[in-house]
Amino acid sequence: MPNRTCTPKIPPLDRPTGWRPADEIVPVSEEAAVEGRYDWLVVGAGITGLSAAHRLGELAPQDRVLLVDARPVGWGASGRNSGFLLDLPHKFDLDHPDAARLHKIMKLNRSAISVLQEQTERLNIACDWSPEGKLQGAVKKRGTGMMRKFCDALDKIGEHYEVLDRQACAAIMGTDYYAGAVFTPGTVLVDPFLLVRGLALALPENVTLRDDAAVVEFREKGDGFDAQLRLSGGETCPVSANRVILATDPYTAEFGYMKNRILPTITYASITRALTLAERKRYSGRMNWGLTPADAGGTTLRMTADGRLLIRNHYGYAPDYRASGRDLAKVAEAHREGLDRRFPALSDVPITSTWGGVVSLSRNHATFFGEMAPGVYSANCYNGVGMTRGASSGRLLVDLAVGHKSQELEDVIAVSGRPSVLPPDPFRSVGVNGRMKLVEWESRSEI
Ligand SMILES: Cc1cc2nc3c(=O)[nH]c(=O)nc-3n(C[C@H](O)[C@H](O)[C@H](O)COP(=O)(O)OP(=O)(O)OC[C@H]3O[C@@H](n4cnc5c(N)ncnc54)[C@H](O)[C@@H]3O)c2cc1C
Repeated sequence: MPNRTCTPKIPPLDRPTGWRPADEIVPVSEEAAVEGRYDWLVVGAGITGLSAAHRLGELAPQDRVLLVDARPVGWGASGRNSGFLLDLPHKFDLDHPDAARLHKIMKLNRSAISVLQEQTERLNIACDWSPEGKLQGAVKKRGTGMMRKFCDALDKIGEHYEVLDRQACAAIMGTDYYAGAVFTPGTVLVDPFLLVRGLALALPENVTLRDDAAVVEFREKGDGFDAQLRLSGGETCPVSANRVILATDPYTAEFGYMKNRILPTITYASITRALTLAERKRYSGRMNWGLTPADAGGTTLRMTADGRLLIRNHYGYAPDYRASGRDLAKVAEAHREGLDRRFPALSDVPITSTWGGVVSLSRNHATFFGEMAPGVYSANCYNGVGMTRGASSGRLLVDLAVGHKSQELEDVIAVSGRPSVLPPDPFRSVGVNGRMKLVEWESRSEI
C-alpha cells in the first residue's frame, strides 16, 4: 500500500436544509473524546455512513468504530433531499435492456426500505414514515411521451402501476397543472432530516459519533490509516484506524480516490410553512403525496404529512460543493413562480427556506460500490437518488469488508460499476454547464 497523504476540502457550512428550523440543525454529538486507534473509521454521517455504522453494530459488535462528519447530521444531502425512498430503479437504469438487472436493483431498494422501516419502528424514529407510493407526472407533450416510456419499462419488468388523467391528478394534488401521472405504490415518503437524525441518535454501543469533526488530513500507511480531525472548537485531533469506509459521496475524490470520475452536481429545493386551516380550505387536494417528474429535467413536488409544499428542480455543476447567493436567489424566485403556477390560490403561503444540495453524478450513470484500495471501502455516484441505494450500500460495504456473503451482496456488486473518466477542466465545466443548460431548456415545459 503506498504511503500517501491528502488534505480533503472541508464540506461547506452552507445554507442548511429547510426541513427544520435552522437552530435545530446542531451537532448530535460534539462531546466525545475521540483521539486514538479504532478498528473502523467511517467518514460521512449521511444515509450511507449511518447505515454502515448500524451494520457494524450487528456484524462486528466487538470492534471500535468512529463515525465522523464535518457538519451536523442532517446538514448534508441525506438530510436535505426531497424524502422519496424509491423502490424502482431510477430513469437511467430503467433504460437498461436487461430486466434481470432491474429486478436486482428493485430487490436492493425494497430491502433497504424494509430495513429502514424495521429501524424506524424498533428505534422509535418519528420521521413521518408514509408508504404512500408516488406519482410520476407529466405537464405537456414532452412529459407524456416520457410517461409512456416509463410505462413500457414497468411493463418490461412486470411492475404494477396506474395511469391517472388530469382530473384524477387534480383530485390528489389540488392542481390541474399535470396532464397525467403514473402511480406506483412502492415508494415511501419521509422527512429525511428526521430519519437521519433518528438513526444518529440510536447508534449501536460500539460506535462513537462526532458530527463536528472534519477529516482535514488522511494518510494510508502500511498497517492502516491516519487521519487528522478538525473539531468545531478549531483544535485538531489525530485518529487512526485499521479500515475506512468513505461514505462521502461527492467528496470522495477529495480523499484521492475516484479522481476525475465523480461529478459534484447541485440541485435546489424550497419548502413553505404548513398551510393554515384557512389555507387548507382553499386547497382541494390531499395531504401527504409526492410527485417526481417524468422528464428528469422537470420538477419534484410534495405535499408533506404536516401540510407543507416542497418543490425541487434545477441542476448545476458544483466544483466547490455549494450554491452561490446569486443562484439561491434566482432559484427561490423560480420556485415561487413554480408553486404559483400550480397553486394560484396559495400564492400567499410563504416559502420559508430555499437551499441547494450536492449529489454525485457519473458520466456513464454507473454507481460505485466496493473496495477502492486495500482497507478503503466506498459507495458513491448514486446519480441523484441515493436514499435507498445508499442505505443498502452502507450495510453491504460492511458485509463485503467482513466477508459476510449473501445474495444481496452479489446483487449490489452485479449492478454497480466504475464511473467513467470525466474530461479535465475547463472542458468539464464548459461541457457540463452547457449540457445542463440544454437539458433545462429542453425540459422547460415540464419545469
Ligand atoms: C435537493 C435534493 C433532493 C434529493 N431528493 C432525493 C430523493 O427524494 N430521494 C433520493 O433517493 N435521493 C434524493 N437526493 C439524493 C440523496 O440525498 C443522496 O443521493 C444521498 O443523500 C447520498 O447519501 P450519502 O450518505 O452517500 O452522502 P451525503 O448525505 O452527501 O453524506 C456525505 C457526508 O460526508 C461528509 N463529509 C465529506 N467530506 C468530509 C470530510 N472531509 N470530513 C468529514 N465529513 C465529510 C459530508 O459532510 C456529508 O454529510 C436528493 C438530493 C438533493 C440535494
